[in-house]
Amino acid sequence: MKMSSLYMPTLREVPSDADIMSAQLLLRAGMIRKLVSGVYSFLPLGFRVMKNIEQIVREEMDAHGAQEVLMSAIQPREIWDASQRWENFGPEMFKLRDRHDREFCLGPTHEEYFTFLINNELKSYKQLPLNLYQIQTKYRDERRPRFGLVRAREFIMKDAYTFDVDHESMVKSYDNMAVAYNKAFDRMAMKYKVVLGDSGNMGGSISHEYIAITPSGESTIAYCDACDFAATDEVAPAIFNIEASKQTDSLENEKVHTPNVKTIEELESFFHCDASRFIKTLLYRSEDTKRVFAVMVPGHRTLNLVKFGKLAGISEDEIVMLSEDEIKTLAETVLGFVGPIGLSPNVELYADHRVFDIQNGICGANEADYHLKSVKLDKSICKGIDDLVSVEAGDACPHCQKPLSIDRGTEVGNIFQLGDKYSKAMNATFLDKDGKAKHFVMGSYGIGISRCVSAIVEQFHDEKGIVWPLAVAPYQVLITIVNVKNELQVEKAFELYVELQKMGITVMIDDRNERAGVKFTDADLIGIPLRVTVGKGIEEGIVEFSKRVDCVKEEIEYNAIIEKLGMLVKNQ
Ligand SMILES: [Zn+2]
Repeated sequence: MKMSSLYMPTLREVPSDADIMSAQLLLRAGMIRKLVSGVYSFLPLGFRVMKNIEQIVREEMDAHGAQEVLMSAIQPREIWDASQRWENFGPEMFKLRDRHDREFCLGPTHEEYFTFLINNELKSYKQLPLNLYQIQTKYRDERRPRFGLVRAREFIMKDAYTFDVDHESMVKSYDNMAVAYNKAFDRMAMKYKVVLGDSGNMGGSISHEYIAITPSGESTIAYCDACDFAATDEVAPAIFNIEASKQTDSLENEKVHTPNVKTIEELESFFHCDASRFIKTLLYRSEDTKRVFAVMVPGHRTLNLVKFGKLAGISEDEIVMLSEDEIKTLAETVLGFVGPIGLSPNVELYADHRVFDIQNGICGANEADYHLKSVKLDKSICKGIDDLVSVEAGDACPHCQKPLSIDRGTEVGNIFQLGDKYSKAMNATFLDKDGKAKHFVMGSYGIGISRCVSAIVEQFHDEKGIVWPLAVAPYQVLITIVNVKNELQVEKAFELYVELQKMGITVMIDDRNERAGVKFTDADLIGIPLRVTVGKGIEEGIVEFSKRVDCVKEEIEYNAIIEKLGMLVKNQ
């Protein structure tokens, strides 16, 4: 590709609404553009990266027995009614009507559609197992689109679905897909962890998530260096002890005047004790305001909304924190002085089980400027008690009790053992050996292709720009002509350009009539991994070679550069 004709609208300024580094760099490098919130276009260089990722995924899926298909993004309501997800998917689903008033959605996922297809086409156990996949555009009307390509409303996904005769066979298909996923992410050079997932909306029991390690990631993962335990904080149990307090207060709940002492920090200095002595009571409501919740957690820990939602039977997305006004009107108490004792009966009370281990606990008195100390709690006032806090570094590993580590990451893939959830709901059956109708046993498997683009940039960049791994780079080699007015430089650079392409290497050539400084700045920004600069040295048969990753320059004979690049690309 000649850069003189390449559409690569780079930006000097960082776009103000790009909230993570990958979005900033991809926008600045002219690889993507935003149309509206959560909707992006891929420009030539960005699109090539996405195609490379797609191709890696395609090759691994094909190599592991999956067959590629392409289903439509538009799906009729009827197939979603059967699984009851037309209603249950919630506002994330883009819904539309055609001219005959028939209802459709833009597919957020395809479990129903694949089940529908197979139910109509596949009749015998002899045709199983079956593994179908597609690489296609998906739509989810995110409440808050953010993080560039990570939480987009339109995105490219690889989704696969397996159909098996029984659970045992499905587990084999599942394990086979796990192998394919490891290979695909390894080939992308991604740093990732495979964690036990929360099946959430997909249903089914066992699932795993592939989390790319990125500091900006939305997921928190806990893992053990001593054994193979790894899980998201939605699933990882928080295992820790409340230290027994030495202080012995009186045995009855005692009201204490605490003017303007509201936050945990203020309480710590007022009562001269550690935050773990406080019973923090948090107030929420359901989105429709039909339910109001209070949740107690130890003062030094953070409530995990997913764990709480599971206990209270409400989706995390529908849990809304009470505003100061709502604390008065819905919960009939006072911001900063909320506590479990004497709370309005309209409020459903839940607790992390550790709050009952707190001795001489302190909580709000539901009255302005008052707290209670020496609190004794009665479990019977709670509607539900469980592990409700997020796991933290140093908590005990549930397998081996060693301290856990915590990292942040972005979910780039997931695999689910669906079982017969969808086949039962849609009555999708095949005839088994004995001639009896049985429900298909299914698995579903996703990789966020466009999200991978973002995760890779999060992992591979420096202060100057993107540093693409060879396997996904838009081009493998960049040849820069220092002075396009110099005939020898142009001639030799183009000779090299043609030779490399003959070898199957993807090459960009910077033949723009620009200052060398501009060319090098752009080269750093767009991050082509292998670089050859053809400048004055060519008169002595010398070119300059460097890798984007360290930018260390090496002079090399023109005749030797082809072999060197060939080796580097081959051995990637
Ligand atoms: Zn462990």
